Amino acid sequence: MVPEITEPAREASKQPCPPRVLLKGGLVADTQARMLVRADVLVEDERIAQVVPEGVSVPEAERVLDVRDCLLLPGFVNAHTHSYATLSRHVGSGLPLEPWMVHTWANTMGRTAQETKLSALLAALEAVKTGTTALLDHLGGDVMTTSAALEAYDELGIRASVAPMISDLALPDTVGVPTGQWPAASHANSPAFLPANANELLAGTDELHRTWHGRNGRISVFLGPSAPQRCSTGLLERCAELAEKLDVGVHTHLLETRAQAAVPPPPGARSWVGHLRSVGLLSPRLSVAHGVWLDGEDMADLAESGVTIVHNPQSNLQLGSGIAELGQWRSRNVPVALGTDGVNCGGSMDMLSSMRLAAILHRPGQPDPARWESAWSVLELATRAGAHALALADAGTLRTGMKADLSVFDIRTSTFATHEDPLASLVFSSYDHRARWVMVGGRLVVDDGVVTTVDEHAIVAEAAEVHQHLLRRNDKYAEMARAQQAFLTRVSAEATPPREIMPFRR
Ligand SMILES: [Zn+2]
Repeated sequence: MVPEITEPAREASKQPCPPRVLLKGGLVADTQARMLVRADVLVEDERIAQVVPEGVSVPEAERVLDVRDCLLLPGFVNAHTHSYATLSRHVGSGLPLEPWMVHTWANTMGRTAQETKLSALLAALEAVKTGTTALLDHLGGDVMTTSAALEAYDELGIRASVAPMISDLALPDTVGVPTGQWPAASHANSPAFLPANANELLAGTDELHRTWHGRNGRISVFLGPSAPQRCSTGLLERCAELAEKLDVGVHTHLLETRAQAAVPPPPGARSWVGHLRSVGLLSPRLSVAHGVWLDGEDMADLAESGVTIVHNPQSNLQLGSGIAELGQWRSRNVPVALGTDGVNCGGSMDMLSSMRLAAILHRPGQPDPARWESAWSVLELATRAGAHALALADAGTLRTGMKADLSVFDIRTSTFATHEDPLASLVFSSYDHRARWVMVGGRLVVDDGVVTTVDEHAIVAEAAEVHQHLLRRNDKYAEMARAQQAFLTRVSAEATPPREIMPFRR
């Protein structure tokens, strides 16, 4: 029932891109100088061969795109998302994370490989259409289903780091509420109440790495412990060792909600960040999503260790998790990237929405406008900083020699007609975030607004059908989630974190 990729699309996806593509006369974002430059960009194979001011001669190209009325940006990097969520868009909506999560699990339980592939295709479609060229998918599931998501990314042609999301503790231990205190009817036969086998989880990641890492120069496999409080100390230590051995990144959630901040770290650790240090995970390899409930010492530790925090402003608001202290992170020089989170808590895969929120959400707490985020600074978070988090050494800027990962936005709309700063218009004012052309590694994945590698309409039509099927098929689990909802909502509300939330603290 899930669409097989159509043969013509499959053929198209195999075809090499033309050896040379010239993007002629566009407004090119020089993110280092923070200015737009009218220039020609020549792409040869997978790289940017030349960026030259308009008028300077460039070699002939097999394909020339007239981008005079367009903005050329480095492709966005979505440094934290969960692709499964595209088939669960409104599951658990209107709830805080703790009860929301059990609804999400209920809906995703037993996903087949084909369903997982479909959700990844949907996520990647939405991503490339809005100018994203690379994403990090923190994805739960077994080797077979995760392989299906990787297949989706490979076929669609987006750059993807998949961090298989693993956790070996049973749900009651992860929220610090013993099984005996849960409503009895709420967890009979719930797989979430059983611990998982750490050996098997790590063997799965290892196998995925062996099979997929480096595929077509676009796929990587990271370690993906779900969150420190959801993993045993042994599993976290072994994640650190395996990441070192494989020389790959590690991605995890960290201190997202009040309830998580109220779960005490293991004995001997000052905080959950201290625990990450003691298991050997604090290093530039690590990126952590959310970090809403970090204290000053945590931030200093992350900055010193070169850990990237991935800011997911919409998800933090939509789940009522809190307002992360972006200003504090920035003034302490913690590396920061941006993500959307899964679309069932972050709205969509549109990175421009994340950029807009990141730019304005923190202004009320900062009286000095010179220190506010700008269109340029959030573009930097969404491109170069994201590329760093995904270990993409030669992506994230539009410069000669870099990977040709770029997005092209048409500026012939009312948004841009009366504004002299097209980048600011795009970030603060645009109501239509679709990119006209998107290139990943020199290949046009979106060509004049159309995704070239897969059949978008067939995928969207199938998604609607599969979503209804999942609701029916997993209703028995949804019933369990409904029985846990009130209890977990109370756990969330009554959690007493070690500090008060200070949404507008300077
Ligand atoms: Zn997440």
